[in-house]
Amino acid sequence: MYRYFILFLLLYLSCNEHKPEEKVEIQKSKKIVIAHRGASGYLPEHTLPAKAMAYAMGADFLEQDVVLSKDDVPIVIHDIHLETVTDVAQKFPKRKRNDEKYYVIDFTFEELKQLNVSERFDFATNKAVFPNRFPVFTATFKLHSLQEEIELIQGLNKSTGKNMGIYPEIKEPEFHQKEGKDISKIVLEVLNDYGYKTKKDNCILQCFDAKELKRIRNEFKSELFLVQLMEFGEDEKIEEISKYADGIGPWYQQIIKGKDKSGKWQISDLVSDAHKYNLKVHAYTFRADQLNDFETFEELLQVALYEAKVDGVFTDFPDKAVAFINKMD
Ligand code: CA
Repeated sequence: MYRYFILFLLLYLSCNEHKPEEKVEIQKSKKIVIAHRGASGYLPEHTLPAKAMAYAMGADFLEQDVVLSKDDVPIVIHDIHLETVTDVAQKFPKRKRNDEKYYVIDFTFEELKQLNVSERFDFATNKAVFPNRFPVFTATFKLHSLQEEIELIQGLNKSTGKNMGIYPEIKEPEFHQKEGKDISKIVLEVLNDYGYKTKKDNCILQCFDAKELKRIRNEFKSELFLVQLMEFGEDEKIEEISKYADGIGPWYQQIIKGKDKSGKWQISDLVSDAHKYNLKVHAYTFRADQLNDFETFEELLQVALYEAKVDGVFTDFPDKAVAFINKMD
């Protein structure tokens, strides 16, 4: 790990210095940059080095996707299965289920720690999903728990005087429930243990499952800032969402709808509707190496942040989004 801390130090020295911030209610006015799975455009997603790099790049929040292990340890990983970002198929070939997948929930934390983590690859072809990113199965990266990541971030907050927020996502609560586990209860306990209790504690909790997010607010009485992630076709639910959440997390293509005949980008009503109900809008996922119909990454950021007026972006390239916002604001 030490070489990564040296990498981090070098990066930190090359980045802008920030003044220590007061503990304030989650930045309401400023546009925010959320490091999507860390600086995942540069290092394998959800590894601690990718988080340290995103921290040094001056993101406002670091994202943690959370899935439970067999022994109820919250693991920071994007999918409920392992084979597209680890060497689980080599290390534990017999542990796949009938669907050919290796589930995080079938392994203890001690077993998960034995795996090596790679840049994301296609399990059928072994080819990288993003060919220009960090090479597949190169260098040594490991899985870690939510607690380990919070300790890294809080440690860096102490040593740098910054106040980086965390942005955990509860993954597939219904799947966990079917496996006999209450993931929200476990995640909320960890957050509470590390001092994340109210909207002032620089933590945003996100989930796609509306039933679960309501449960977090109403049953667990959580006072955290809650974001309802959205897929297509849920635009009409804004009023309902505003009853239990503080923000929405839509895909940016729900907001930016292609160009009209004159070449102007068409913006949906989703952001203005959300703002009417006092909901923040943090859109996903902004990738400099996946521009869809945009000419440049800056154009995509410009349209989303300053024409559609989203309040924050989930991005694999936090350095580029931070630089762009600093230039614009
Ligand atoms: Ca996520």
